[in-house]
Amino acid sequence: MRFVVTAGPTREHIDPVRFLSNPSTGRMGFAVARAARKAGHEVALIAGPVALRTPPGVRRVDIVSARDMLAAVQAEIARADVLVMTAAVADWRPARCAKTKLKKGAMPDTIKLVRNPDILKSLKRVKGLVRIGFAAETGLPDAEAARKCREKDLDLVVGNDVTRADSGFGTATNRVSLVTPDGRVRHLPLMSKLAVARRIVAFAEEATKRKGRCQ
Ligand code: C5P
Repeated sequence: MRFVVTAGPTREHIDPVRFLSNPSTGRMGFAVARAARKAGHEVALIAGPVALRTPPGVRRVDIVSARDMLAAVQAEIARADVLVMTAAVADWRPARCAKTKLKKGAMPDTIKLVRNPDILKSLKRVKGLVRIGFAAETGLPDAEAARKCREKDLDLVVGNDVTRADSGFGTATNRVSLVTPDGRVRHLPLMSKLAVARRIVAFAEEATKRKGRCQ
């Protein structure tokens, strides 16, 4: 099977040396790419700026902004069986990006922001493609995850509460719930991100069979 996995943050530049972003380190997405490859699948890993080594056998595409990521995902999914959107995509970007570094005196007091495209909502639908998303929440993760699953047309949402010290951004472990469109929620115990990744890959393999794309 062919997996497309996104990982890490995106950066939305104000000028060449300043940007808006978030604390994502890419560890969860890289774990998904590693687990999928280990399970024998072909993997394209679309990564924002992160300090991680590419897992062996994985093809990596580096991007910076949300709009770059949208273009890269769109190009990769035509031939894919599974899309796992692990990336923490920045929701807004500055309306303008200066070509040269802004002098301190020239820095405006306010920066006008515009919404970035929602990648999952913007993608052209590919028949039979299994779509998996994440929901990083700071409260009520299950309810949010279930809503997101329906709204973004996903086969699975992996919900995690990023307020915990042992779960979420930058940690080696994660405590997640798996939410399907029928509203079922399965809470997994605290486990390594690689163990969570293996569960996601196993779900994707099953879901792909159900959708009749791969035998
Ligand atoms: O709505 P929220 O940002 O919480 O949704 C999270 C899911 O949507 C993640 O799978 C993330 O990769 C994806 N996403 C996206 N495009 C955005 C923001 C998030 O595809 N602009």
